[in-house]
Amino acid sequence: MNIRKEFLPFSRPSIGEAEIQGVVTCLKSGWITTGAICKTLEDRFCELTGASGAVTLSSATAGMHLMLKLLELQPGDEILTPSMTFASTVNMILLHGAKPVFADIEYGTLNVNAACLEEKITPRTRAIIPVHFAGAPVDMDAVNLLARRYRLAVIEDAAHAVGTYYKGVHAGGFGHPAIFSFHPIKNITTGEGGLVSLNDPDLEKKLRLARFHGIERDAWKRYGKGGNPSYDIVEPGYKYNLPDLLAALGVAQFDRWRELNDRRRMLAQLYRDGLKGTVGLDLPQVPAYDHVHAWHLLIVKITGMPRDLFMQKLADYNIGYGLHFPPAHELSCVKARTGSSGPLPETERAADKIISLPLFPDMAETDVQYVCEAIKEILKNV
Ligand SMILES: *Cc1c(COP(=O)(O)O)cnc(C)c1O
Repeated sequence: MNIRKEFLPFSRPSIGEAEIQGVVTCLKSGWITTGAICKTLEDRFCELTGASGAVTLSSATAGMHLMLKLLELQPGDEILTPSMTFASTVNMILLHGAKPVFADIEYGTLNVNAACLEEKITPRTRAIIPVHFAGAPVDMDAVNLLARRYRLAVIEDAAHAVGTYYKGVHAGGFGHPAIFSFHPIKNITTGEGGLVSLNDPDLEKKLRLARFHGIERDAWKRYGKGGNPSYDIVEPGYKYNLPDLLAALGVAQFDRWRELNDRRRMLAQLYRDGLKGTVGLDLPQVPAYDHVHAWHLLIVKITGMPRDLFMQKLADYNIGYGLHFPPAHELSCVKARTGSSGPLPETERAADKIISLPLFPDMAETDVQYVCEAIKEILKNV
């Protein structure tokens, strides 16, 4: 086969005229930091998730930091999460002085296994942070049952989950705080940004305060005509607000989420059809329960050769790739602080084989076909 001239990246945001217009309109409006456009994005997420509140933030990581703090998790508390997650969650747990405890996953979906979560619960366990991995929902009935039985908080990591439904309920619709990310590789983006949806007006109020110095009123009210520019701070807060300039991009992206996800779903299906039966790789599996997959990532597992070699060969074909994720229990900072979490056989089985293939709405069907052909050629002698 002919090698393509142009590099095919693993991800690229889909930015249309509406996004550009939205940002330009905001730039010309005279108000570019947190204000009415953030509120619009928050309202959209309340409608999407069914949560009573939503708060925009500078990142999902900021959301995780604030939720750990506001749930009053104490140093020494154990927080259950899969090792197959992004390091940001584990960083926040460690920086909070709490202890990450890792539960094993299901090899097929890379989602946390509820039975493995239960095995790791101790009297010190305070919270579960499940991840809707690659856009496939976690078994939330099982997680909710554990949360009720052992009185644990749940924080959904919904960074991959705009458009993810579990049994008809969107991520964030289960009564728990859920954290969404708008980093450029995510299904919708604000450049950088995040949002927490939640169902507790009291917690929401605390979150809004913590997001902006602990100052009572929003800036756009303070600086409005007749506003009172004075303020008081009862609890010191952080500086984690999202500017309207970025939220303008987010609102225009949000308005396209179905179209963008439909396109991802179609491309994912092309991959799954195109690679079906290929010896030397395992295709992603989807959960057995009723769900809608957001297809944030298309992750295959390379079984026919060392992954490093496979990556080199993909690069030779001018194809980009990602790695989601190096397992958290093997990070040096985790090993140094918490020691072993015990065996995580399925995580370890998947960890050195996973690779994320190019998947983004603006890629062509022929790009997917090219990647499939290249992969079959790379693996043809195994
Ligand atoms: C991207 C990501 C995050 C962090 O999102 P930011 O907005 O970059 O802070 C957290 N968890 C998972 C699973 C992610 O993929």
